[in-house]
Amino acid sequence: MIETIAKQTGAAFKLNKGDKLKVIDPQGEQVSDMVLFNAEDKREKLSSGKTLDFEETILITKGHHLWSNRSRKMMEILEDTNGRNDFLLAPCSPETFQIMYQNPEYHPSCFENLYTNLAQFGLEPDDVPTAFNIFMNVQFAADGKLTVAPPTSKAGDYVLLEAKMDLIVGLTACSAEQSNNYSFKPIQYEIIKAQN
Ligand SMILES: [Zn+2]
Repeated sequence: MIETIAKQTGAAFKLNKGDKLKVIDPQGEQVSDMVLFNAEDKREKLSSGKTLDFEETILITKGHHLWSNRSRKMMEILEDTNGRNDFLLAPCSPETFQIMYQNPEYHPSCFENLYTNLAQFGLEPDDVPTAFNIFMNVQFAADGKLTVAPPTSKAGDYVLLEAKMDLIVGLTACSAEQSNNYSFKPIQYEIIKAQN
């Protein structure tokens, strides 16, 4: 069954080892932040640093694994029809909009949408790691300068991932203007249970 995450919101759910998760961009140009925790011991969680180290690239896509802070495989990327994701930048948070965009008003954010949905599993805001930012298009220059470009994802593009351990997953439809070409759209996901 395909679930829909409304624009500027999030979801959290469990995934068993061997289950597959399909994250879909139904309209195109929409980022989805994903964080992972070991369901048996939530101190083990997704690690950008370990993943970039072991995969020897900052462009994580089909054929790569997402690794934990304990150097274990959490997910394998089986398919990636768009092929561009980011694993450098932290989830957008209220402070992102204050510091980078001088916006003092309330603004929805991936960080808030992650920790509020993850609270049902006993997780707290400080537990949220750097997210795997599906469909996010961060460009980097030779001098190290980073820029956020519009996603290259088209309607129907998806990433298919397989759980390598029992997981708690947090997933969003990102709320940052620049990351989503200045329009907020939903994200869809489907859990494909392992045959047993
Ligand atoms: Zn975001």
